[in-house]
Amino acid sequence: MPDSSLFHQPESLEGKVSDAEWQTRVDMAVCYRIAYHFGWNDTIHNHLSARLPDDPEKFVMNPQGLGWHEMTASSLIKSDYAGKDYTKSEFRLAPAGRNFHSAILKLRPDLNCVFHIHPLSSVVVSATRDGLLPLDQNSAMLYGRVSYHDYEGLADEAEEGPRIVEHLGDNQHMIMWNHGLLTVGRTVAEAMANMNALARCCDNQMHVLSLNRPIEMVPEEICKKAQDQIYQRYQGAPGGTLEFKAYRRLAEKLDPSYRT
Ligand SMILES: [Zn+2]
Repeated sequence: MPDSSLFHQPESLEGKVSDAEWQTRVDMAVCYRIAYHFGWNDTIHNHLSARLPDDPEKFVMNPQGLGWHEMTASSLIKSDYAGKDYTKSEFRLAPAGRNFHSAILKLRPDLNCVFHIHPLSSVVVSATRDGLLPLDQNSAMLYGRVSYHDYEGLADEAEEGPRIVEHLGDNQHMIMWNHGLLTVGRTVAEAMANMNALARCCDNQMHVLSLNRPIEMVPEEICKKAQDQIYQRYQGAPGGTLEFKAYRRLAEKLDPSYRT
């Protein structure tokens, strides 16, 4: 009798989907493997999604049931905003994830990738009304640029998706109170870089506040100066490109099965 808990990787979709879809699937598989390496995921839960460049009303997302260490390019499910799936899989998308990732990608055609995770330090910060404090260089860059969204229960209800979009506004980083983090990007690399920055800020804040010592915060004008400096350096181009190449090399070294 075969063990039903053993997952059999699906047949590779390489060459069976468009080159653009395959590249997106491989890039997203890198994200899951690196997110797992960083300890971002909550077992099989949490979700990352990316719009397909050549079929922009469809996106790929992780099936609920797979650990992020075993995610592959071919195991991601292609879906549309109406909830129709186009990839054969023994798993389904998580209902809450499907709900709000769909809403963001549908209502914000300028964004192409959404990350949602709840690592420990982010849940800690999301439960303290300070929100994100400017305690270091990373959080100075995010000063005034983090959006917040109240906890409303499991995000299964259709009305919550547009509310998340409204609360996000023009920012690319969000703390969901009593819940976790959400970042978006114009590219996969940008959403990943945004999440790395926000997750690291939460780690730092949790440790700083636990010291119970007087806190030195970065003054508002210095936060704004640093933000202007970074804008001058990159002229607002999507971030994270070089980091993403390094992530791909790391994924390759850790376990090249991600690209199957
Ligand atoms: Zn969540």
